[in-house]
Amino acid sequence: MKSAALMAALALAIPLAPAAADPAADPISTLVGQLDLEKYKATIKSLTRFGDRRQGTERNRQALDWIEAQLKSYGCTNTERLQYQYTQPAPDAPPAKRAPGIPSGGAGGPPGQGGSTLFGNRIPTGVNTDPMLQPDEKLRALNAEQTPVGTSQRENVYCTKVGATHPEEMYIVSAHMDGIGFGEAANDDGSGTALVMELARIFSAPGVETDRSIRFALWNNEETGLNGATAYAMQRKDLQGIESPKGSGKYPEPKWLGMIQHDMMMWDHGMPIPKLDAAGKPVLDAKGQAVYVSPPEQRREADVNIEYQSVSKQAEASAKLAWAFRAANDKYATNYPAAVGFHMTNTDSTPFMDLVPSISLRENERGQQIGAGWDPNWHQPSDVYATYSDKDFLLGLNAAQTTLAGVAQLAGARIRK
Ligand SMILES: [Zn+2]
Repeated sequence: MKSAALMAALALAIPLAPAAADPAADPISTLVGQLDLEKYKATIKSLTRFGDRRQGTERNRQALDWIEAQLKSYGCTNTERLQYQYTQPAPDAPPAKRAPGIPSGGAGGPPGQGGSTLFGNRIPTGVNTDPMLQPDEKLRALNAEQTPVGTSQRENVYCTKVGATHPEEMYIVSAHMDGIGFGEAANDDGSGTALVMELARIFSAPGVETDRSIRFALWNNEETGLNGATAYAMQRKDLQGIESPKGSGKYPEPKWLGMIQHDMMMWDHGMPIPKLDAAGKPVLDAKGQAVYVSPPEQRREADVNIEYQSVSKQAEASAKLAWAFRAANDKYATNYPAAVGFHMTNTDSTPFMDLVPSISLRENERGQQIGAGWDPNWHQPSDVYATYSDKDFLLGLNAAQTTLAGVAQLAGARIRK
């Protein structure tokens, strides 16, 4: 027997008559038009108030509280937290054993991560672990608390746009909210976190409806090894599509249709170039090797990189998802194109990639380009808001346009007048 609550839910699920809508208006174009560079910048700027948001610290927990409050204020009021335990190793502990990587490709250069090959000029990469390398004293003080050694609880936060006709199915749109390096984690990953928050704001606006659900998720502990996203995938994969309580029309974990991760959205200045001295001569290191630097200006060919992983179990469907996003970029992005690659790696979509079609959006390819040092601010004290120009912020906004349009098409978005 059907409960009154279910009957009410079914009544709501009937598509509304389009009588009041203008048939010529494209709702996706209207929604993309609501993304705004100044709002996107302001959200990134607000996130930098919590320093590098390192996992396990008070500044990380405050950032999570702030993100949740913002999501609620946007109308994405059904926020939830997912708890998990994380063990912070002692500083002198031997490094954790890593799973063997995906074998890299060709003979053009050394192997990169995710199956890539490191072609061309390179800059060494690494994580800054020295707080004294942060020249801004106020920021150094803000980042002073270290993660306590040992096991304690961590949290992710998410909210969900419930689908009007298919609440039992959803797309996951996500980024990681933690950072490292003693900067402000403005690009890695304030830029992705702000993107997800802006989409939550637009999809939660009065009058916006989608057929399918969309979950906006901010993961913790990405920088320690994708621990927050992995905890979510493990805890919730078997809950997919279960109506609970039975007959309620409510699906605490809708079936996953696609996972779209955002990680470092703003810096695409191209391949490192030789560093020159005052006389215009190439600078050499102690071994007599040329020293390279990142170009100071964004390259004219800057693009959004959409990646999937070719050796994942969901590779074929993930490729299809990637190309759908490329097409959404062609149709709706205002300034920058998108490119598709097949070496997605080292990001929170990895724990999902064998379970559900999964892609990541980035400023560069993670394996070949970021791995070759194309982003000099990566995990460095220089990853602060002031480092980035409006062109950099605009690249992030174009990634937001791409995901907004791609997800709006897939989830069936419309605007009620
Ligand atoms: Zn990141």
